[in-house]
Amino acid sequence: MASPRSESQLRDDIVELGRRLWARGFVASNDGNISVRLDGDRILTTPTGVSKGFMTPDMMVVTDLAGRKIGGERNASSELKMHLAVYELRPDAKAVVHSHPPLATGFAVAGIALDKAVLAEVICTLGSIPIADYATPSTAELPAAVAKYIRAHDGLLLANHGALTVGSDLFNAYYKMETIEHFAQISLVARTLGGERVLSRDEVHRLQGLRSMYGITAPAPICTDAPATAGGGETCQVVQAPVTDGSRLVPDTGRGEARPGPGTRPTGEGEIRLTYRELAALIEDAVRTVGSGGTNG
Ligand SMILES: [Zn+2]
Repeated sequence: MASPRSESQLRDDIVELGRRLWARGFVASNDGNISVRLDGDRILTTPTGVSKGFMTPDMMVVTDLAGRKIGGERNASSELKMHLAVYELRPDAKAVVHSHPPLATGFAVAGIALDKAVLAEVICTLGSIPIADYATPSTAELPAAVAKYIRAHDGLLLANHGALTVGSDLFNAYYKMETIEHFAQISLVARTLGGERVLSRDEVHRLQGLRSMYGITAPAPICTDAPATAGGGETCQVVQAPVTDGSRLVPDTGRGEARPGPGTRPTGEGEIRLTYRELAALIEDAVRTVGSGGTNG
């Protein structure tokens, strides 16, 4: 595990990530906010009323865990409330990034969660990306809407608003934002071309197994059952995947556990097939960029 970064380095990191959010078009005007835990009871966060692409380290605001300013000449965003809710509910979360990436936000506006089993690396890292209910920005409604899902997820869409990610450090949270927007982009293209072909439920369970093999930390396990409709927090990362006849999509040759040949076509329509090698390569890539915690694979 890398040594902890100093406050000065964290200020530089926030400047750098603000620049990336702006350069990638994830924010317009003065949108978006970034925060990181400085220690047990202080948060370092971006100032309000400033383009996140053009910040300087001295602009950052230090607050306590209730959002009261304890350092800095500028003020924090009213959306900091949402970050504070995350820190309260997720002691493991060290950083939070919020932005309005246009494709992911388009899904959030259309009311379409990014929860289909289509990309192995997304399933392994983020699991699924649900939509938190619409809430008026900067009111107490927004932290409440986020609270419902954030115990079990590292990335959320915010209905008619944007996206939110949490991570083990600033870059980890930022990379998850990139992953969400990339996933939204791919999903949109697939939908334009006739719809996503989804991985089977068996494949999703297999990816859950790879998570532990690669030491990917996640706040909750992946599950493929329908989400509970009753109130309260989600307890697993619901991924939409079809039930199949149980046979592997691709025999795991050379692993000594291949099931009887692929004579029967799985019943789920539009499944895609990944070889073990393709899958492993995807996961290794994902672990390099998004895998959090102390393990490097
Ligand atoms: Zn916002």
